[in-house]
Amino acid sequence: MSEKNYTYMVEKYPNLLKYFASKNPGFHFVLISPLLGFFLYQSLSLNVSFLTVVGTLLAGVLWWSFLEYAIHRWAYHTHFKSKFMNYFLGSFHLYHHAKMEDRRVYNAGFLMVYLMAPLILSPFYLLTQSLALTSLFGLGVIGFYFFYECVHFLLHYKAYDSGYLNWIQRYHFYHHEKRPDKNFGNTSDLWDRLLGTFDSRYRDYNLSLKAKKTLITQDKESHGLTQS
Ligand SMILES: [Zn+2]
Ligand SMILES: [Zn+2]
Repeated sequence: MSEKNYTYMVEKYPNLLKYFASKNPGFHFVLISPLLGFFLYQSLSLNVSFLTVVGTLLAGVLWWSFLEYAIHRWAYHTHFKSKFMNYFLGSFHLYHHAKMEDRRVYNAGFLMVYLMAPLILSPFYLLTQSLALTSLFGLGVIGFYFFYECVHFLLHYKAYDSGYLNWIQRYHFYHHEKRPDKNFGNTSDLWDRLLGTFDSRYRDYNLSLKAKKTLITQDKESHGLTQS
């Protein structure tokens, strides 16, 4: 990550950004809506109790919350023996660490979702053998995944003074600027606490000037552009 002349795959092949990255969650949502529509359509055929519906959706939320942590910690921040893996995976997140001002990679691309969805949902399908129930679970997973993408975008959008976004912004930027080996959660600290990577010192941390300069609103101000 700190190597001076390191080239990331997205720098060499910027066309890949169309498929694997997105600079705002709204555009991303449009492209993944057919998948959400499919899950919704399949779920409508279910004849189960209200409690089962809520429980399945919550299980999906929890599953994404764990995956958000696991992918960030064990895929994006792991140094693999394979040079290609590092070259490929580095573009998804280490590039974001290295070039925080590049908003083209704030969100994942639609192709990532279509490629990952069968993989992510297959354990639940194997367990239940039901496409309808797996679709409902998928709504929970993708729904919370979309929340995660919105949160990550908002964290890089502007500085927050209070509330949830202020808390999670300090948590995330502490990971960015101080300890890339800690605080992997992007929407909560749950899995960091459970799996031993929680660093409470983010509470005393405030965004540096350098980090603030990478925020989208800051960029607009510095270029004299008005918000639309
Ligand atoms: Zn970030
Ligand atoms: Zn990271």
